[in-house]
Amino acid sequence: MGLVSEAELEPFSPEPKNTSPVLPACASCSACRQRCPTGAIDRERFLIHAEKCLTLFNESPGRLPPVYHKLDRKNPCLVGCLACQTVCPANQGKLRIEEAAVSFSVAETRHLLEEDRGNGGNPTWQSIAAKLKTIGIPHYQNRVPRNLRFLMSKAAAD
Ligand code: SF4
Ligand code: SF4
Repeated sequence: MGLVSEAELEPFSPEPKNTSPVLPACASCSACRQRCPTGAIDRERFLIHAEKCLTLFNESPGRLPPVYHKLDRKNPCLVGCLACQTVCPANQGKLRIEEAAVSFSVAETRHLLEEDRGNGGNPTWQSIAAKLKTIGIPHYQNRVPRNLRFLMSKAAAD
């Protein structure tokens, strides 16, 4: 996104000395590339291959694309992935991992797995929606059931 303005703006502060997009530690490290379950991180390319990144697919709305079903599922996260970031030595001690403030009951999990959950007035669904809100993903009401169904079908097939 670009922004065009005629406003008189203060000059930017000087650029930081280290403007390289790559950490010095990356010169002798390949932990993220080795940990990525789908091969989305390429030694020869700075940008990741987003078309292989689990996070892109499982956090996007709509149907999971056919390619997603072919991806290796060594890191079966319901939402996101972060395998590359949790293994990065530069992140050690900096990532904050929190226990989820909620858990889903058997009835709620069954309800999540139903293809046709009816309208949002169902009390079980209202409870699920409240929990998704508590953990900060109220807009994932379709993504979480979709991803859970996918993971369960993969587990059953393995
Ligand atoms: S988030 Fe997961 S799938 Fe995406 S690049 Fe990182 S390790 Fe690979
Ligand atoms: S794990 Fe971190 S330090 Fe290692 S190559 Fe990847 S980004 Fe660089």
